[in-house]
Amino acid sequence: MKKFKCHCGAIEAEIKTSDNLEKILRCNCSLCKRKGAVMSMVKNENFKITKGLDKLRLYKFHTKVANHYFCSICGIYTHHNPRSNPAMTGFNLGCIDEIDTFNLKNILINDGLNHPLDKK
Ligand SMILES: [Zn+2]
Repeated sequence: MKKFKCHCGAIEAEIKTSDNLEKILRCNCSLCKRKGAVMSMVKNENFKITKGLDKLRLYKFHTKVANHYFCSICGIYTHHNPRSNPAMTGFNLGCIDEIDTFNLKNILINDGLNHPLDKK
């Protein structure tokens, strides 16, 4: 179980994940390019908001299928449900204190710019 919090601490979550995170990624879509976050993924049931649900804000764009959440106070991206698999939660590894996101190996680059669901 990993403790997760946004910058101001209004939002906290608990994440059930293995110690070596299953998938570490960055994404080059128009939104993630701006956020620059390093992320990991778990199933929705393994990501639980434990504090500040009312402080979360939801951002949607393009097809409006994916849910992109952020803290309404400090503005930090917390998590999202990708449209390629809404049963999964992607989350901001920077919100876990003991993880040094500058020292992670094997960061995949997700090609969100050329999203598979945008292909005709
Ligand atoms: Zn916050």
